[in-house]
Amino acid sequence: MRVLVTGGAGYIGSHTLLELMAQGHEVCVVDNYCNASPEVLVRIRSLSNGTLVDHIGDVRDSVKLDDIMDGFQPEAVIHFAGLKAVGESQERPLHYYDINVSGTLCLLRAMDRIGCRKIVFSSSATVYGVPKYLPYDEAHPTNPTSVYGRSKLMVEQILTDWTAAQDDTTAVLLRYFNPVGAHASGQIGEDPSDIPNNLMPYIAQVAIGKRDALTVFGDDYDTADGTGLRDYIHVVDLARAHVAALGYADKATGARAFNVGTGQSYSVLDMVAAFERTSGKTIPTKVAARRDGDIAAMQADATRAKHELKWVTEHNLDDMTSSTWVWQSGNPNGYKS
Ligand code: NAD
Ligand code: UDP
Repeated sequence: MRVLVTGGAGYIGSHTLLELMAQGHEVCVVDNYCNASPEVLVRIRSLSNGTLVDHIGDVRDSVKLDDIMDGFQPEAVIHFAGLKAVGESQERPLHYYDINVSGTLCLLRAMDRIGCRKIVFSSSATVYGVPKYLPYDEAHPTNPTSVYGRSKLMVEQILTDWTAAQDDTTAVLLRYFNPVGAHASGQIGEDPSDIPNNLMPYIAQVAIGKRDALTVFGDDYDTADGTGLRDYIHVVDLARAHVAALGYADKATGARAFNVGTGQSYSVLDMVAAFERTSGKTIPTKVAARRDGDIAAMQADATRAKHELKWVTEHNLDDMTSSTWVWQSGNPNGYKS
């Protein structure tokens, strides 16, 4: 299939490009590089000889999008482009709604113009909000607690309405849990431009000596060791879910949400212990207050994805931490290394 990938130079997008090309899909990337390095595509081209074209562009730039659509004529779009920092979204709501929501509207108009009928969207488990029960299944009520989460839910609604209005359209709404890890080559991984907000890249930067210690945000949750539980998923498994979603979109119509997680959860201290075990490094920790807006536990029921997307995870916790360490130690300054 010819697949247009917005935000394809980012963390999840880059891993997905490799999986798509490995399956023979032709890919075209559009990215404005606000949170990515052009070096990513250099490395992807060295790892794969699949068909990859790329454009520097913003998804809100309709003229540019029309031009790209006319040239590439995608049969499907995977839409990663967007902003993802929860804290920043509270401070800059209009900026987040502009890029995440208006950007999607521009993209859909450009798709409609050329008759492109299938989209796979990067949604998030954060659309569920405070759990009424766990694991979350897709029928769990949605009640996001941040601007970021609401922007994702708004796009899910827009895509649902888009498919309702046209019989032959498909929107696959992938609700990611916590992506971690890196490509087996050690060449592609997560490269935060600032102090990492997320647990795994922070641990990795402590391990290479960039940061002194991991701050554990709260050890008084109602969990076995008192620290937060999350459903971490290896980024390569997540990337493969997009390939599966394209196969699904080829046969199904309408909008459908899928949880993309492992169904298992680990605490902050479990993650530290696994990282120490696979890297041989000691990770000093200090406990601080809970982070605003954090919940005690999150876990996916990924049964629907297993049955309907025919997708299951293949990587375990040690694969997640060891691949992170191989990437971080081989690229101490990320793509600037
Ligand atoms: P990322 O920041 O690494 O990738 C996003 C990419 O989109 C970047 O390459 C960035 O340069 C590009 N981009 C941003 N705004 C753009 C615009 N206006 N026009 C064109 N390109 C633009 O993030 P990621 O972790 O790879 O996440 C990809 C998607 O998955 C995002 O939509 C994110 O909200 C969603 N998601 C991520 C997580 C996570 O924990 N990483 C969890 C759930 C959902
Ligand atoms: N966390 C932590 N220290 C950090 C970053 C995260 O203790 O420096 C904890 C956080 O409180 C949560 C878990 O690690 O319990 C995962 O956090 P992350 O930001 O990676 O993901 P999210 O909050 O989006 O689930």
